[in-house]
Amino acid sequence: HLKPVIAANWKLNHGPTDAKAFLQRFLAQVPKLNDRTVIFFPSAITLTTVTEGLRDRPEIWVGVQNVHAEAQGAFTGENSVLMARDAGARVVLVGHSERRHVFGESDETTTKKMALIAQARLTAMLCVGETLAEREAGHTADVVERQLAAGLKELDDQQIGAIMLAYEPVWAIGTGRTATPEDAAEIHGVLRRALASRVGDKVATGIPILYGGSVNRGNASQLLAASDVDGLLVGGASLDADGWAGIVRA
Ligand code: 13P
Repeated sequence: HLKPVIAANWKLNHGPTDAKAFLQRFLAQVPKLNDRTVIFFPSAITLTTVTEGLRDRPEIWVGVQNVHAEAQGAFTGENSVLMARDAGARVVLVGHSERRHVFGESDETTTKKMALIAQARLTAMLCVGETLAEREAGHTADVVERQLAAGLKELDDQQIGAIMLAYEPVWAIGTGRTATPEDAAEIHGVLRRALASRVGDKVATGIPILYGGSVNRGNASQLLAASDVDGLLVGGASLDADGWAGIVRA
């Protein structure tokens, strides 16, 4: 097992005031973590508050939930990779289910974002996952392999070695219906083999593959123990400081 990566995706929750209070409460309960990497993905507006709140805890990473697919220009309302880096982000979520299914983000867009993030030498966390209809039709492996291939399309082997992956079945996100550890292990295995066929076993083994979708304090340690599950990407259960402190110690 790799060092587990435990990540909080706050989605459209927690402005700067909430985030400050959250971090005070969370940090008081969680001493320096050497055996896992914890990542916060706050809203872009809250990013600086979180990086400042973690100034004395450099082992905790901060990232953004999205960036624009072009480096700069006339794109009102967007945030760029370099702005995110400048503001203290080390990692960027790409292709989250809500980006794909609520905002219509295509595989072509994830290809571009992955390339920009690699050029900026930030860590991309590429999210993949099938819908319930795709699962029921037996297409899960095809879907996640297609999404993975699109994300890696413009990257060289070294750049691929620096990414993280997250498997988030769409039917498990925000539904309370978690994948079983066996479901997760199966698809993480599919992803690991796809990575290995692109970059070889050695590099593929070093790429963390996180599971996301209705992770909570009760199921976190079981999911983390499943084979090829190297971490957790948590939405709803990351919003409460006490609950999140429990999950990061899972
Ligand atoms: P929930 O943990 O709320 O199901 O969300 C998962 C997710 O989308 C994390 O990115």
